[in-house]
Amino acid sequence: MTPLVNAMTVDVEDYFHVSALAASAPRERWDGFETRVARNTGRLLDLFDEAGVRVTCFVLGWVADRHPDVVKAIAARGHEIASHGFWHELVYDLTPGAFRDDVRRSKRLLEDLSGQKVVGYRAPSFSMGTPSAPVSHSTSACSNERPVAAR
Ligand SMILES: [Zn+2]
Repeated sequence: MTPLVNAMTVDVEDYFHVSALAASAPRERWDGFETRVARNTGRLLDLFDEAGVRVTCFVLGWVADRHPDVVKAIAARGHEIASHGFWHELVYDLTPGAFRDDVRRSKRLLEDLSGQKVVGYRAPSFSMGTPSAPVSHSTSACSNERPVAAR
């Protein structure tokens, strides 16, 4: 019998990054909001330590840029660092080139801060394509390849 694998993942972002608030919290205003991500991530890391679990943290590049110690703490405590893009933009709203640039920027920053190779990516608000124009779930945005349409 194959053992059951439990996996825990976290999006490391602040409340004003969520797509539902984009109209009232555009990125030009993000630096003006009270940030809670560092404190809340610290609380989560303590809980994960208490439970003895390791997780994958999909960190927004903007968070890594403003709070590099958050990324360093996640990595130092044994968790995987993955990308949640830099600007939390919906993938299906981006051109392939803009998507590639966003992912590369976040990946480079996260790797520099964590010392880990970043191989995971979670699309903001699950925006990896639409039913009429799906996009593959590969990490091709990190290579020289273009995202490809799913079959
Ligand atoms: Zn998100």
